[in-house]
Amino acid sequence: MPELPEVETVCLALSKIVNNSKVRNVKIIRKDLRWNIKKNFEVELTKKILRKPYRRGKYILIPTSKENILLIHLGMSGQIKIKANQNIHSKHDHLIITIENEENNIFSITYNDPRRFGYIDLFHVKEIKNHFLLKKLGVEPFANDFTLDYLQRKIFKKSKCVKNFLMDQSIIAGIGNIYASEILYRANINPLRSVDSLNKENLKSIIDSTKYILKKSINVGGTTLRNHLQPDGKLGYFTQKLQVYGKNKTNCKKCNSQISIVKISNRSTYFCRNCQT
Ligand SMILES: [Zn+2]
Repeated sequence: MPELPEVETVCLALSKIVNNSKVRNVKIIRKDLRWNIKKNFEVELTKKILRKPYRRGKYILIPTSKENILLIHLGMSGQIKIKANQNIHSKHDHLIITIENEENNIFSITYNDPRRFGYIDLFHVKEIKNHFLLKKLGVEPFANDFTLDYLQRKIFKKSKCVKNFLMDQSIIAGIGNIYASEILYRANINPLRSVDSLNKENLKSIIDSTKYILKKSINVGGTTLRNHLQPDGKLGYFTQKLQVYGKNKTNCKKCNSQISIVKISNRSTYFCRNCQT
């Protein structure tokens, strides 16, 4: 499932071609994604200019010249493919937006999603604060308001485990199952620990590790974009250099004990019982 670094990587790739491009054509093949694509979507988007994309949590937001925002959510299995002009669609392609950029090159941006848990929306810029997917999002991990004080307020009298706390999008936006394990491994904190037991040092370590792990992964994503642009045009899935996630048959890189696996809220969670306390 795409998390913040994957979404950021897709956003970066889109930025390179979408900025100030004109929408030539919109083709919806399947509108029943997690929710139905809106009725006037094609009409509202066609002939509009797309501005620079940006990311909020796991959502890609692209402002348009008609004061609308195009929202892309990759869900569990969504992908964006960028190709030179192409009208033929393959299996699980649900939407193709054809654009012409400032250099008059034509590209097709295809949304492909086998499980259809993702979503594409178009809404007026005024609605951004109240949009049902965006309004409850917590702080961005790289924003100035992701502070010790913020976390202390959020953990106050809360007994949920720290891994679920990190994955709660209304607290911190963008962290999913893979990076939650990686962050806690780096911070030496047991994922099952209740958040009200975390002291100042633990919280500082969580903030530091969150920024470090996400930044490092975004850099890996950026490098793959430069070096190995895949021939099928698929974006945002890259081999991450993971330290603990999926490593239950190997030994801890810090202490050489065996990595453990537990289910937390039915999600596989990897950690070192010796290092993470
Ligand atoms: Zn260890």
